[in-house]
Amino acid sequence: MLSNGVKRELTWIISNLLIMLFLAWLTGLWTEGLLLFILFYIGRQLWSIHKFENWMASRKTNAYPPASGYWSELTYLVSKKQRALEKHADLNLYKSEQFKAASMLIPDAIVSLDHHNKIEWFNTVSKSLIGVRRQDIGVKIESVVRQPEFIQYLKSANFSKSLTVNSSYKKARTYEMQVIPYFENHKLLVVRDITELYQLAQIRRDFIANASHELRTPLTVLRGYLEVMIDTPGEHQKTWGVPLEHMETQSLRMQAIIEDLLTLSTIEAESIASEKEQVNVPEMLKQLEQDVKQLGNKNHDFVFDIDESLVIKGYAEPLKSVFTNLVSNAVRYSPDGGEIVVSWLKDNANIVFEVQDSGLGISQEHIPRLTERFYRVDKDRSRVTGGTGLGLAIVKHVLERHGAELHIDSVLGKGSVFRCEFPMDA
Ligand code: ADP
Repeated sequence: MLSNGVKRELTWIISNLLIMLFLAWLTGLWTEGLLLFILFYIGRQLWSIHKFENWMASRKTNAYPPASGYWSELTYLVSKKQRALEKHADLNLYKSEQFKAASMLIPDAIVSLDHHNKIEWFNTVSKSLIGVRRQDIGVKIESVVRQPEFIQYLKSANFSKSLTVNSSYKKARTYEMQVIPYFENHKLLVVRDITELYQLAQIRRDFIANASHELRTPLTVLRGYLEVMIDTPGEHQKTWGVPLEHMETQSLRMQAIIEDLLTLSTIEAESIASEKEQVNVPEMLKQLEQDVKQLGNKNHDFVFDIDESLVIKGYAEPLKSVFTNLVSNAVRYSPDGGEIVVSWLKDNANIVFEVQDSGLGISQEHIPRLTERFYRVDKDRSRVTGGTGLGLAIVKHVLERHGAELHIDSVLGKGSVFRCEFPMDA
């Protein structure tokens, strides 16, 4: 099937050839006539190419150049395609304008960054929240938002979580910053002012910290009297001996809960302040090994597999409480003689602290809730073994502060693995 362009061209050739043949018949100049026709055809083609090129270069697609035959069809097809593209481009422009207009109304700062972290565009709120100005377009975001924590966050290229910081641009404001990678190495920086929310959480944290602190002194006094009463021989021991011991056990539990609540609120309070320091984890774990081996009253079999050279940057005391909590859980939830393997090593992508026990195990439905405060699988057992229900909540908070993650694998009746994965640059 012939295309329209070829059909038009053939029609032109045949009709003009017929005219030429008629003239040649009249004049008898057959060779000259044929030569003239070929020259005329080539000349016409060259002229059409010249016109077509000019038309394409002028971009005035609505003004058709004078053309015939194949060239008129080609001109028509090109201009049709061009009109469709323009329509599409208009639609894209409209959509992008619509998106920009909507993003201007969002109460959070939104800044689009290219693959070099240079600012491409930003919404109105960005000006008041982080101080981005029109002249900053094309400037690296680190030169505008100079907060060290943010620069570190950007460098880490780990954007799975947001960053909470005290604003350096606006006094006494707390921001949540999140980088979202999109489209071929581009990034969107979203900054939200969470001062009010943060203050509310702060009030709650202060309340818990203050209440725990206030309870500490009266409890110490009560425990003091209890100890005296238990240690003093006399008639009262017959009736009160057992209840007094029961009271002492309970007061010890209360003290442990208060201490854990205080630890939790201290960790939370420090969550956006203080510099990290070099932590000698192998040294810390050696001490822990000695402690658990000395204290162990269930004859557990301990294996400590420690990479001696592996130190990280972090917060020493909170990290210590993570290691102690996980190892003490393994001890408390494993029967006599069970094996407990503690390791501190590098795997392909992370630095890993792992505690593996061959104890009770945990059924799957409980695992997602274990890090909630006071969540216990078996309340009675936790109480008997001296648990506060806050150990794993502390672990979770400390790991969050270190950009680390807790993974729990467990099979009921067989044992559990608690694995803390720290980023390589920790
Ligand atoms: P607790 O002080 O009660 O141990 P945690 O927050 O440390 O509180 O742990 C929460 C719950 O998770 C525990 O009550 C226990 O049921 C379960 N658990 C924690 N570690 C282990 C473990 N190694 N084996 C079995 N269960 C565990």
